[in-house]
Amino acid sequence: MLRDVSMDEISDGKKYTHKDLARLSCNDCMGCSSCCEEMGDTIILDPLDVYRITKRLNKPFTELLGTHLALKVVDGIVMPSINMDNEVKACAFLVNKRCTIHDIRPGFCRLFPLGRAYEDDGFYYFLQKDECKVKNRGKVRIDKWICESDIVSYEAFTLRWHKFIVTLRNMLEKMTDEEEVKALSLSVLNNFYIVPFDERKDFYEQVYERIENYPNI
Ligand code: SF4
Ligand code: SF4
Repeated sequence: MLRDVSMDEISDGKKYTHKDLARLSCNDCMGCSSCCEEMGDTIILDPLDVYRITKRLNKPFTELLGTHLALKVVDGIVMPSINMDNEVKACAFLVNKRCTIHDIRPGFCRLFPLGRAYEDDGFYYFLQKDECKVKNRGKVRIDKWICESDIVSYEAFTLRWHKFIVTLRNMLEKMTDEEEVKALSLSVLNNFYIVPFDERKDFYEQVYERIENYPNI
């Protein structure tokens, strides 16, 4: 999601790579679950998040809509998000204040309270200074915090997906035919979230192949 905010306002002013240490450790949250509650539909999911969740729950994407997942329009594009529109206004994966999918938690959750700022040729991490409630957090290396087995491939995928979405958004903005806009947006939803990925093949390679099917994006 694009945010029009000043870095000085929200961050500690430093630019981090995954090899850097940042004050992230919140002592395993210690009974706090505030960032898994009342977040509305702000936890947007990428294709890797949805792939992992559908595989873990052994259910197709469409069956999880309304329970665990929701759809929202982000910058003109239909995207899935974590569903918090329930009685307790909390993530459906949160049970007894613990994340029940911690090992496969979405990228947004892995990152928190870090953010990513994209530049022309890559991105850097920044620390959102007022997001986590815990004070005096300990230092942790960022790749350890994100906890992806192959951080280099994960970052390459994140960057590629970001570029795809930004180009798609720019393209949709210029389109004047409402039906064409709808068709393209739904095609992306279908190809990257609804049509399942083959578990026997490399996930990233499959995403890149599907991106290649949109030569203008
Ligand atoms: S606010 Fe901080 S301590 Fe609380 S759940 Fe989020 S990351 Fe954990
Ligand atoms: S997926 Fe896990 S970490 Fe993310 S909001 Fe839900 S309970 Fe919290």
